Amino acid sequence: MYKIVLDPGHGGEDYGATSIKSKLKEKDITLKIALYAMDFLRQQYAIRVRLTRENDVTVKLKERLKIAKRFKANMFISIHLNQSKGIGVESFIGLEAPKINQELQQCLHNEITKILTRKQLNIVGRHLREANHEMLQKVFMPSVLFKHLCINDDFKLLNDERFLKELGEAYAIGIGGFLGFEKM
Ligand SMILES: [Zn+2]
Repeated sequence: MYKIVLDPGHGGEDYGATSIKSKLKEKDITLKIALYAMDFLRQQYAIRVRLTRENDVTVKLKERLKIAKRFKANMFISIHLNQSKGIGVESFIGLEAPKINQELQQCLHNEITKILTRKQLNIVGRHLREANHEMLQKVFMPSVLFKHLCINDDFKLLNDERFLKELGEAYAIGIGGFLGFEKM
């Protein structure tokens, strides 16, 4: 059975990006998105899922990678938000990553972009990138890191539980699609 690790960025004493306009913290939003994605994956597909954290605790990069290794994950998806404005959806794979990483990135990117660029949300920007990101260089299974939405400009959306659920489900559908699963 496929094993997926979802990595809600930051946590505990590491807040990630914070909003000046609202009280939002990146660490809280990434966790919500990951939990929604996990629920959906477990309901819809025969997939095992683990999160690198299930509550507001500090988990160092090394520990996150260890969790994935111990779980023998086939896939590692990291979820982040942006601090600054301008970019709607960015996804990153490691430099010179294998082709399978590019395919996974494309699959997830399409699903997530679909949700975020709906006309009424008015979010633009679609960038698939490679980056010399420490985590992406160290993780040993296919992996993608997402950065989407801006903690300041998009705070209304990020406060909307229904929207976060949809976004989490977009991750799940992207993963399912990549693995060739039909929704149950
Ligand atoms: Zn982050």
